Amino acid sequence: MKQTWRSRRWKYALPVGAAATVLIPSIRRQTISRTFLFAIRRLKLMPRISATERAGLEAGDSWVEAELFTGSPDWSKLRDVPPSELTREEQAFLDGPVERLCAMANDWDIWQERDLPEEVWDFIRSQKFLGMIIPSEYGGLGFSASAHSAVIRKLHSRSIPLSITVMVPNSLGPAELLLHYGTQEQKSYYLPRLAAGIDLPCFALTEPEAGSDAASLESHGEVFRASDGQLYLRLNWNKRWITLAAVATVVGLAFRLHDPANLLGKGEEVGITCALIPRRTEGVRVDRRHDPMGVPFYNSPTEGKDVVVPISAIIGGAEGAGRGWVMLMESLAAGRGISLPAQSASGCAVVSRVAGAHAAVRKQFGLPIGKFEGVSEALAQIGGLSYAVEALRRYTLAALDSGKRPAVVTAIAKYESTELFRKVVNHGMDVLGGAGISLGPRNLLGHLYIAAPISITVEGANILTRSLIVYGQGVLRLHPYIRREIQALDTGDHVEFDRAILGHVGFAVRNFLRASFLGVTRRGSYEAKLNWASAVFATLTEISLMTLGGKLKKKETLSGRFADALSWMYIATASLHRFQSEGARNEDRPLLSWVMDRSFAEIQAAFEEILRNFPVRLVRTLFRNFALPIARLNRIGNAPTDEMDRAVARLLMEPGETRDRIFGGVYLPRNPDEQMQRLESAFKATKSSDMEHATRLRKAAIEVDSFDLNEYRHRKKAA
Ligand SMILES: Cc1cc2nc3c(=O)[nH]c(=O)nc-3n(C[C@H](O)[C@H](O)[C@H](O)COP(=O)(O)OP(=O)(O)OC[C@H]3O[C@@H](n4cnc5c(N)ncnc54)[C@H](O)[C@@H]3O)c2cc1C
Repeated sequence: MKQTWRSRRWKYALPVGAAATVLIPSIRRQTISRTFLFAIRRLKLMPRISATERAGLEAGDSWVEAELFTGSPDWSKLRDVPPSELTREEQAFLDGPVERLCAMANDWDIWQERDLPEEVWDFIRSQKFLGMIIPSEYGGLGFSASAHSAVIRKLHSRSIPLSITVMVPNSLGPAELLLHYGTQEQKSYYLPRLAAGIDLPCFALTEPEAGSDAASLESHGEVFRASDGQLYLRLNWNKRWITLAAVATVVGLAFRLHDPANLLGKGEEVGITCALIPRRTEGVRVDRRHDPMGVPFYNSPTEGKDVVVPISAIIGGAEGAGRGWVMLMESLAAGRGISLPAQSASGCAVVSRVAGAHAAVRKQFGLPIGKFEGVSEALAQIGGLSYAVEALRRYTLAALDSGKRPAVVTAIAKYESTELFRKVVNHGMDVLGGAGISLGPRNLLGHLYIAAPISITVEGANILTRSLIVYGQGVLRLHPYIRREIQALDTGDHVEFDRAILGHVGFAVRNFLRASFLGVTRRGSYEAKLNWASAVFATLTEISLMTLGGKLKKKETLSGRFADALSWMYIATASLHRFQSEGARNEDRPLLSWVMDRSFAEIQAAFEEILRNFPVRLVRTLFRNFALPIARLNRIGNAPTDEMDRAVARLLMEPGETRDRIFGGVYLPRNPDEQMQRLESAFKATKSSDMEHATRLRKAAIEVDSFDLNEYRHRKKAA
């Protein structure tokens, strides 16, 4: 009897003990969590994060996009983002000086002369175009990110070299770095000079061996004490592709700083540092020029040989030594969301206007070419994607205007806007046919097409941005638990580790159940579908983290597909926001529906490819046999239908307020002899009852350029 009781006691003791170990936090933390933490650290299973990666990760912050990582986005946060708006002064600048500058700068002449005319340079300087981001107390315009973007957008619609020339001093460069990290003395000296255009800046980071991997730069500086008792830097550099270097008066330079005698007290290897080097300093060489696709803006290599500058040339003074990488990453996080999305949105709006008008004006087989289904398919891509790019631009600007520097959404904005613009301009060229190919002042798309690869390459080349940054950084920054877990592993804090893991497990289970439930119920509103996409995204993320751990960041094709899914969830959210903030008008609905369907189709394609190609064999087999067939049958969405395509194409081919509003913000010349004006007039006249007048305008609009043969030969010889 006694023995039975004892054996029964042992029989229960084991499960009770196990349950207590798991369920009682203090016991679990001391046993399971502590052992796990020890094992992971010992076996080095945690993702290795280098010092430069860590700086990149810690630079910038997150914003409402973090909701998309949760599997159950809080729509009040995503919806309540205030729309980006301009102040009265900013709007007046856009309607005044920007309009005048556009009128002064003739794109074709700039391409022929390979430079901006002197009066355009003077106007840019005198109107403080180079000081848009510099606060008024330093003599700048102190514009918001939205205003800055709107200016670049309009200038770009007039001339690419014009917009690049204005854009570069206002983006990642001396002014931006000084504003955030400069000493008061540096700010007081340089900022008024930069704002007034007395100084023209460039920023030199890229080197022959350090392109995408910019942190591997080899240009170097050494600290030394001169005979006057003061500290100086001796710099040697070899940089390439530096925009404006040939005309700059001050070179912002990134280099590796050594301090062999530890004069700064930061050790011998101080690290990446940024400094401002007056161009006239002895040893600075900028006497060559690159030719970026023939686009006539200044872009040059630069070398420095034993260039000596005082220690005060370091941005932030001696304090700023070694902080260069953090400065660059933080500034890039903001800048990426402004310049290139502005240029891409501008290009998209121009292509939409030009291709739509051309398709209405140009007749073949007795009909305007836009009436042919094949052409309207291309027009739909142009219109739909352009709507999305503008939505993406505005939504991201709202973050920047609120003072945030979100690294992931700015990377999405840079990557997607430039990629989508490339698609848009390709379709535009197809619609224009020969009129897009014959270069000359009448060709409205040729230069946009030629320049498209530049924006793909700069500010983080696109393949790298998609496959390494968007999701790679996203998962570390935006996942609600990963960062906490890594920090706990880093510090060996088993209590925090336990809390994070427990939360993480609950999060994963909730998302799996949620994804399954939403997949069954298939509720149809856009937000409900995005909730479903977010839950699937979160579940697949968990499976990837569980099976790949730290190896996930090296699986670039997987990471790229996650980036696609995340980016299209973001684009869809931004487009819903644009639609609402423009008053949810019925006439805009075809565009919104098109973009939403396209987004869901892209998300679906990304999920299918993740399931079909998952890099862990056992998981892949399970996915291919079970999850993939279900995903294919139970699709989140399909691409827009032909009817939807036609509705968008009609919008592009219909002159009037809706088209002007949706594809606005671009420069429209008043001169009736300019091609843009000719095309717009002919386009409006398609609605006129005066057939003779309409035909005359139509014929003028479809003419293309040709050059006198002798003059052309002569010009070629001169060139
Ligand atoms: C017109 C122009 C203007 C520029 N202006 C400036 C300037 O003012 N200042 C400045 O400092 N720099 C400037 N740059 C340099 C620009 O930032 C670099 O070109 C860019 O960083 C890419 O470097 P790279 O061209 O050497 O390409 P690479 O680094 O050689 O990359 C080649 C390709 O490989 C991909 N790739 C590389 N590594 C990876 C990876 N790990 N995973 C996936 N894909 C990868 C890239 O995405 C790219 O597609 C300019 C460049 C151009 C062309």
